[in-house]
Amino acid sequence: MARVIVITSGKGGVGKTTTTANLGMCLAKLGYETVLVDADIGLRNLDLLLGLENRVIYTAFEVISGECNLEQALIKDKRYNKLSLLTTAQNRNKNDINEENMNFLIKLMDRQSDYILIDSPAGIEKGFYCAISGAKEALVVTTPEIASVRDADRVIGLLESYGINKISLIVNRIRSRMIRDNEMMSVSDVSEVLAISLIGIIPEDEKVIISTNKGEPLVLEEHLSLPGLAFEDIARRLDGQQVDFNNFDYFYNKPFKLLKQLFLGS
Ligand code: ADP
Ligand code: MG
Repeated sequence: MARVIVITSGKGGVGKTTTTANLGMCLAKLGYETVLVDADIGLRNLDLLLGLENRVIYTAFEVISGECNLEQALIKDKRYNKLSLLTTAQNRNKNDINEENMNFLIKLMDRQSDYILIDSPAGIEKGFYCAISGAKEALVVTTPEIASVRDADRVIGLLESYGINKISLIVNRIRSRMIRDNEMMSVSDVSEVLAISLIGIIPEDEKVIISTNKGEPLVLEEHLSLPGLAFEDIARRLDGQQVDFNNFDYFYNKPFKLLKQLFLGS
């Protein structure tokens, strides 16, 4: 049985796809059979981030319609052969994949995988319920900005009302200088507000953008950068290992009271 985990957020553009790509690589590196499902129907880009866009021939849509089998639609990564990608169709508005189809696909992949990570659209967007329908666990990604945190709070509510209660938090794009100068919420502020368990802290780093543009996830680097280490730490925590947040203490500890008060309205 696979662990089926949806990577989601309230607001768009906070790092869900980046997180899915890097975590997937790390889990494959740890030896787990890992399938990444691009369920962001309108904005397919997980294939780009992984550098696999030229190899997409069949998508989940053809599997559902019986035009091909699952194996044909699963793209095996050449760097880590335990990693594969299943994309959903783009520009097929009439026949979007529905919740029932998604559950069917997850069941097909369940026995042969250890992890199925689903890259979802943001909570308010079309396709969100379809993306979460097969998941048992969720990782909610937020940046330390008020709008993103507030929307994360809403999406946590949606997930819980859908019966997904194992939810962990990833705070992405944190900047030490801004936290030091009390210009940005710290991770402790964010996790206090959202009251779910923290599983990852990822710093803002232009290397993340470069890797996105190159289609080479950061965690492929021989010497991991700070964000690369952050993704690896998250994978190990998912795997049940005890990994402390030592490298990221600085981001964690500085409380930013003003923003917190604004957010909580007190
Ligand atoms: P989402 O899937 O939530 O829409 P993406 O993963 O596509 O978000 O990321 C949106 C943009 O933000 C991308 O250009 C990505 O490179 C950038 N980004 C994400 N995380 C970071 C980070 N930690 N530092 C710098 N840029 C980042
Ligand atoms: Mg995305």
